This record gives sequence, C-alpha cells and structure tokens, in this order.
Amino acid sequence: MSFDVLVIGSGASGLAAAVSAHRAGARVGLATKGSLQSCNSAKAQGGIQAAFADDDSPEQHADDVWKSSHETADRRLVEILTSEAPGAIHWLEENGVEFTRENGGYRLARCGGASRKRLLQVGDRTGHAITTALRDVVEASTIQTFPKSPLSELEQSSNGWRARCGDHVIDAATVVLAAGGRCWKVAQERGELCTNHPGATGEVTQIAVGAGAETRDFDALQYHPNGGAWPPNMQGYSIPETTRAYGAVLLNADGEEFTDSLGPRDAVSHAIVDEVAQGKGVETPDGRPAVYLDTTRIAEDDANVSLPYMLRRYRAGGIDPLRERIFTYPVLHYQNGGLLIDTSSETTVEGLYACGEIAGGTHGRNRMMGNSLLECCVFGRRAGKAAAEKARS
Ligand SMILES: Cc1cc2nc3c(=O)[nH]c(=O)nc-3n(C[C@H](O)[C@H](O)[C@H](O)COP(=O)(O)OP(=O)(O)OC[C@H]3O[C@@H](n4cnc5c(N)ncnc54)[C@H](O)[C@@H]3O)c2cc1C
Repeated sequence: MSFDVLVIGSGASGLAAAVSAHRAGARVGLATKGSLQSCNSAKAQGGIQAAFADDDSPEQHADDVWKSSHETADRRLVEILTSEAPGAIHWLEENGVEFTRENGGYRLARCGGASRKRLLQVGDRTGHAITTALRDVVEASTIQTFPKSPLSELEQSSNGWRARCGDHVIDAATVVLAAGGRCWKVAQERGELCTNHPGATGEVTQIAVGAGAETRDFDALQYHPNGGAWPPNMQGYSIPETTRAYGAVLLNADGEEFTDSLGPRDAVSHAIVDEVAQGKGVETPDGRPAVYLDTTRIAEDDANVSLPYMLRRYRAGGIDPLRERIFTYPVLHYQNGGLLIDTSSETTVEGLYACGEIAGGTHGRNRMMGNSLLECCVFGRRAGKAAAEKARS
C-alpha cells in the first residue's frame, strides 16, 4: 500500500491536512486509531477565533495570543495563525460549515485573554460541525481511510516512510502527524478528571521523537478553568468559556467575585485553585473542591442561541444553569507544547509534518480558547499542501 501523503489522525487537523493534500494533487491515505469520528476536535464547543469585528485586526489577534502565551509563543507561527484566520473561516464555509450569524454578520463572543469579540460559533457544538463537514469531504473523495489502525511504528525508507498502522503496512513519500495530545493518559496517571477523549494518549509524539523530531514546551499542560464538578454526569465536562463571555462570573463561598472571569486561562485556573486553598471555596455534594460559576447572569436568549447543548446536558442532570449557580473546578484539558514545526508545519525531520495539538509553538506555554480549532485548520491546510508538494518534488 503506497501513497504520496499519509495522514495520521482524523481530528480537525488531520481532516484539514488530508483535504488540502488531496486538492494539491496528492494520493492520500488517512489512518486513525479509532473510528473516523473519534477525536477531541468533535468535542470542542466554544468556538473558533478570527478577527472579523470592525474594531479588530489580525495584528490585534496576534497581540492577544502573544500576551496570553506570556511571550513564549513562536511569533512567526502566531502571525500566520491570525493573518490566515479569516481565510480559514471562509474555507470552512466553502466546505459546508455554517457559523451562527446575527445582524448580517457573524455572532462574535469575547473569550478569555481576548481584547475584542472574536469567537465564531456554531451554537455550542463548533468542533462537531467542523469535523462533520470535513469528514464528509474526505468520505466523498478518493482519500483512502484506515479506521481502527493506530500508528505503532514509523521508519524512514528509500522512498520516504514506512508506517505500521494496525494490521496495515503503508508506504508514503511524506507523513503528516495529526494525532492530538496526551491529556487523557496524563489524567489517568494523576487520577484526575479530564475533558479529553480516551484516544488522547500521546504515543505518536514518542514515535516522532524516536524518529529524531524535536519538541518544545512539552511539559506545559493546560487546565481548563471551568471543569464541571457537579452533577456526576458533568464531571470532566468543560463548561464552555462562552458562558463567561455571555455574562457568567466566578464566585467564592461568600458570593464574591475573586478574579477577572475573562482573564487568560492559566490565570483564571490559578485563581480558582488559590481561592479553594484559602478555604474560600465550596464543596460539591460528593466532597469535591469547587467554586461557583454564576450562570444565572446569562441572558436566556444568548443561552438558547450559543449554549443549547450545555443547557441540555445540565438539565438532564437535574440542574438548570439559568436558575441556579453551578459548581466548577479546573480540569486537565490541553497539551500546549509539542513537536517543533516551521512555518510549513514541517518538524525538524525532513518529510515529517505535524499539525494541531501534537505540534508546539503557536500557543507557547498557554493557549487561548478558540485558537486550537483555528490552528488545526490553518496549519492542517499548510501541512497538507506542503507534504503534497514535497511528495511530488
Ligand atoms: C471538551 C473540549 C472542548 C474544546 N473546546 C474548544 C473550543 O471551543 N475551541 C478550540 O479552539 N479548541 C477547543 N478544544 C481543543 C481542541 O478541540 C483540540 O485541541 C483540537 O481539536 C485538537 O485537534 P487535533 O486534530 O490536533 O487532535 P484530535 O481532534 O484529538 O484528533 C487526534 C486524532 O488522532 C488519532 N490518534 C491518536 N493516536 C493515534 C495513533 N497512534 N494512530 C493513529 N491515530 C491516532 C485520534 O484517534 C484522533 O482521531 C476543546 C477540547 C476539548 C477536549
């Protein structure tokens, strides 16, 4: 079995890379660990950032990323991310994604660390909409897919690469690694809750490192400030940051606001942990540490348009977030760092590309929400195109 480009992973970044490589004329194979649907991308609710507002610009967006990363991101990657964001949104639309609109434009929310309203949404199932649309494109094309075929070995060969994916041995001139992060595995090891899907175990990064690829900021894992803490069916759920964008605030046991609820993620997470450590938190009915997220401040109209899935999930657990405050505590969520890439998404090993959560640099040591789906599309497209061009050269 032989391809020009082999893509590993079927999340937003892998799908974007596969579609782009195919459109660049390459014969493409896509192997993934579970079903094609299984990935973190499909769980992403909040949205995707792009500077469309009149008072916004890609430069402003880049400044916000830079500040949120505490000046640790790779500025070249950040500038590509933000300058190509509007184009990536239009590309998604051409491929079937319909973003929520209002007043003749996109419905935009302000997310943590952002100085402008910049978050586009598809209700609160943005990642599901993006992966469904791109998967439909892949399935309607000649891209050959290999579900339930995890990459276990990768070695260089005379024509490029030889990969073992489940029962298949696959040759390819170039390989795009889009296998996501490792937070599920780390959470299991630490005995913590996690927002991720069980396939987020990180072995592909280790395979790449074994092939000589370098990493950066690999120790920097992100806690989502607002993990669901109660009821039990919401434990490990990431309460969308859009709750705070639409007016919810964090309160301690005395009902006091103790932090800027729309600060950068790491700052908000630290503030919650500190508040609880100082004895100002609350306890869930099953004894977990928490603070309150006062979701009763969200206007019903906003919630119905931008948080319908979250409302449904909580109400199924017997709690109406528009009538009562909910319990929240930080939860392991995202791998900030990863494989070192250049502006074409190539790792430090020639012919081996990486995009999405498996790659490092775009967010430095602290990612802003809404920039991961964006990274998947911007760098997934770049990786697919560059891998196709190198394969044909
Ligand atoms: C609950 C939740 C909410 C989120 N909300 C947002 C949001 O609102 N906005 C935003 O921008 N970001 C959000 N994120 C982050 C974002 O969704 C992810 O970081 C991003 O989608 C990762 O995409 P990816 O393609 O890199 O990886 P994934 O989507 O995780 O896909 C990785 C793929 O690789 C496969 N794989 C893994 N190991 C192997 C292997 N050995 N061989 C073959 N395949 C393998 C997996 O099965 C999967 O198909 C959220 C994340 C979660 C978990």
